[in-house]
Amino acid sequence: MDGPPGGDLCSVCHGNFDTPCQANCSHWFCGNCIMLVWHHGSAVRPCKCPLCRRPITLLVPSRASSRQLNRPEVAEILRKVERYNRVFGGHSRSLLQRAQDLPFLLRRLLRELIDPDRSLPLVIRARVWIAMIMGAAYLFSPFDFIPEAIFGIAGLLDDFFVVLIVFFHVAAIYRSVLYRRHGGS
Ligand SMILES: [Zn+2]
Ligand SMILES: [Zn+2]
Repeated sequence: MDGPPGGDLCSVCHGNFDTPCQANCSHWFCGNCIMLVWHHGSAVRPCKCPLCRRPITLLVPSRASSRQLNRPEVAEILRKVERYNRVFGGHSRSLLQRAQDLPFLLRRLLRELIDPDRSLPLVIRARVWIAMIMGAAYLFSPFDFIPEAIFGIAGLLDDFFVVLIVFFHVAAIYRSVLYRRHGGS
């Protein structure tokens, strides 16, 4: 499951993916193609996804391409992608962008949590589990900031925000893992 959906083609070159990378908007491109898109525009700004026009602030190569570092052309592309991440991956992002990145980050994180082959550091796993357990503890405890029993449907608001805060928190932890893994320090 770590790669573009089967049968899909790169939307830039309309060919099969070469060194596929997934952007933070969840779209896949050949590593080289998306670097060409970036070079085509301003070098000091992150490039926009050719499909959804959202700024690309993180590019994650598929595991298969990371394993082909012995091929010089792949190594060269991955070096460029890492440099891109180093420049644009650490930028402060608006709340809207962070919300838009949630599906990409949470889906990937879930896959890594259930895949024993993945090398998600133990301390990261622990932080993710603690956040989720604390969120669940709040949801299922009889204590509420806004009790449902009195305020009805409005009483669910605080539960909703607790879940949202947990998601944002966990996504931020995981983003820093991806950033460090693919270029940042
Ligand atoms: Zn391509
Ligand atoms: Zn996109």
